[in-house]
Amino acid sequence: MSMVTPKIHAAILASPGMGHIIPTMELAKRLTTHHGFDVTVFFVTTDSDTTTTSKILELTSNLNGINVIITPPVDVSDKLDPNNPSLGLTIVLTMIESLPFIQSQLLSMKFPPSVLIVDLFSTMALPMARDLHMSSYVFLATNAWFSAVSIYLPFLTKEAFSRHANNHEPLLIPGCEPIRFEDTLEPFVSPWGPSHESFLEAGKEILSVDGILMNTWQDLEPVSIKALTKNGIIGRLFSKGTVYPIGPLVRPVEPAEKREGEKVILRWLDQQPDESVIYLSFGSGGTMSKGQMRELAYGLELSQQRFIWVVRQPIEDDAFATFFDTAKGGNASTLVDYLPEGFVNRTKEVGICVPMWAPQAEILKHPATGGFVTHCGWNSVLESILSGVPMVAWPLYAEQKMNATLLSEELGVAVRVKADGEIISREQIAKLIRRVMVDEGDIGMRVKVKEYKLSGEKAISVFGSSHESLCQITKDCEILLHQSFEGKGCGA
Ligand code: UDP
Repeated sequence: MSMVTPKIHAAILASPGMGHIIPTMELAKRLTTHHGFDVTVFFVTTDSDTTTTSKILELTSNLNGINVIITPPVDVSDKLDPNNPSLGLTIVLTMIESLPFIQSQLLSMKFPPSVLIVDLFSTMALPMARDLHMSSYVFLATNAWFSAVSIYLPFLTKEAFSRHANNHEPLLIPGCEPIRFEDTLEPFVSPWGPSHESFLEAGKEILSVDGILMNTWQDLEPVSIKALTKNGIIGRLFSKGTVYPIGPLVRPVEPAEKREGEKVILRWLDQQPDESVIYLSFGSGGTMSKGQMRELAYGLELSQQRFIWVVRQPIEDDAFATFFDTAKGGNASTLVDYLPEGFVNRTKEVGICVPMWAPQAEILKHPATGGFVTHCGWNSVLESILSGVPMVAWPLYAEQKMNATLLSEELGVAVRVKADGEIISREQIAKLIRRVMVDEGDIGMRVKVKEYKLSGEKAISVFGSSHESLCQITKDCEILLHQSFEGKGCGA
């Protein structure tokens, strides 16, 4: 007797921040359009969000087969150190507080999901998946190198962390490049604090899942991916499942009607020569001090290049001030006050300052864009590579310094900003922008980035390595769904 195959229904959890929301959405789209899944996405929000909910609604309008649930905002400020509110810990605590709501929603569904996909910040939901007999996956919306670090973390000894934090020795990750102290992350340098502990907990939970998905592809990072394969030096530690590169998943240019401000930017780009404009943006969170922002403005002028700059209100000592709420970045009328006097007037023929938020995917894909000054958030990096645009790497927070090293030293598609005092000087900024835009010399960044663009497109096309990974995951989910259908699980 032939068995009716039920559709796989996957629930995906997206932690707060556009950098987590955007790749989750792309994964959801991929699973529904190419692999026949039904998907429910839970977008978790914080109480300081005033802009994200409307952006989620914008991003998710016109989607078929995706059920979007935005969780009620939660406030975790009373659980954080007010003098040092760690970004990672804020996200983790927000996820913990939102979990009861997510569970109640899952339990009330007529056709409950049989698969749970969490991200690096929502691994605390995995015990719930086990209780509900769901198969479980982690989607690490990052590269293979940082994925390897996240998986290997629980195997690093306290001594190794101490030597890293105190003696500035590199953290050794088998089969991968070590993490140099100058590229380290906050949870690794304050080793025994709560953000370190929550990272370790996540690392332990990750090993319990059926599979780990990473937003990268075979040809981009062959060495780190080799270490993560079934027989690789780190992959072997994850005996239960497999690590799959499934990327590059990047936000496409949206066909949706543009806002007037966006139309103005794109019309301006239409009038510029090919590859003549440098785009500057520091992701959803990136902010800098007033002094640095002024120096950047002078550097930009000195470079004599056409530009589009996403400008945020300067904030002292907080590199990710707008991560949860881009509205904190100020508005058009106040931003001029922070720029050097006369800057906007002097540059009005050659550049545009966009307050807070720009249509990044569209700008990078535009033929007039020839370079990108980026904070190296992984989504921005992938969007740039998939647009064939070389970068100036200016990392600010999280794993961005590792990303900058990968881009500038391994892939050769970026030049990197180097600390030359408290403030990066205008001379250095101008020199790096010109290096990308005019005197690339023998680095060949533009050629290399275009080669990676092609290999990324190939990886996600039918029969490509990343597409095949998702086909394999689909097959595994189907098998588990059949088993539960026969009486064992909640997915039936
Ligand atoms: N983004 C955008 N416009 C902006 C700033 C950011 O569309 O003005 C998008 C960008 O295209 C990317 C995401 O927001 O998809 C930022 O993610 P990323 O991983 O680069 O950095 P994060 O914000 O997580 O630090």
